[in-house]
Amino acid sequence: IQGYILTLLEGGLDDPDINHLYLVKAEKSIDRMIQVVKDLEYISRVESGELELVRDDFDLAKLIDEVFDLHEMRAKKNKIKLMQAYRNDLSYMVNADRKRILQVLSNLVINGIKYSSGKGYVKIDILDMERHFLIEVADNGFGIPADDQKRIFERFYRVDKSRSREEGGTGLGLSIAKHFVEAHGQTINIQSEVGRGTAFTFTLNKA
Ligand code: ATP
Ligand code: MG
Repeated sequence: IQGYILTLLEGGLDDPDINHLYLVKAEKSIDRMIQVVKDLEYISRVESGELELVRDDFDLAKLIDEVFDLHEMRAKKNKIKLMQAYRNDLSYMVNADRKRILQVLSNLVINGIKYSSGKGYVKIDILDMERHFLIEVADNGFGIPADDQKRIFERFYRVDKSRSREEGGTGLGLSIAKHFVEAHGQTINIQSEVGRGTAFTFTLNKA
C-alpha cells in the first residue's frame, strides 16, 4: 500500500498509465488488510474466552443452501460443482451459533473451490451420529501432504506458497474454523491425500 501511494506522490499521480491502476491496487490491499484484522480479532476473542456464542436451533441443510448460494459464482468461475450428498427431504436440526457455523462452512467451501485445478467438486455430507451430526466437506482438489496436515490449522500457515499465493489468502481461514468449532465444544478433523482430495469433518450437537 505504502509503495503504491509513495509512487503516486512522487509523480505517479500525473501518469495516466498507473494513477488509476495503483489506486485500485491500494484499495484492494486495504480491503485485504481489513479482512486480516477482522480474522485476527475473531481468533483472539475466542482465545480470550470473550466470544459469546449465540446458540439457536436451526436446520443445517438450510444453512448449507445459504453457503452454496454465497459461493456459487466463485465455484462456477473455477469450474467447481457444489454438491450435497445428504437427503434433501429431511431436516437436520442442530443447536449452535448459526453465524459462526456459516463462517466455518464458508471457509471450508472456499478452500475446496480454491485449491483445485478445476472440473472438480465440493461435496457436503451430513451423517447422523445419535447425539451429533457429523458434517463433512470434501473435495477432489490438490490434497495436502501428510507433514503439512499437522500444521494446517495454525494461523498464517499455508502449504504451497507459490500456488497458494496465486489464489490469495492469509492462512487464517482454517484457524478460525477450528477456533469456532472448538468454542462449541466440538472437534474438527482433516483427511487428505495429495492428488486425490481433502475432507474436513466436524460435529455439532443435535437440537
Ligand atoms: P484464508 O482462508 O485466510 O483466505 P488460506 O485459504 O490460505 O487463506 P486456510 O484456509 O487456513 O488459509 O488454509 C491454509 C492452507 O491450507 C491453504 O493455504 C492451502 O495451502 C491449504 N488448504 C486448505 N484447504 C485446502 C483444501 N481443501 N485442499 C488443498 N489445500 C488446502
Ligand atoms: Mg482459506
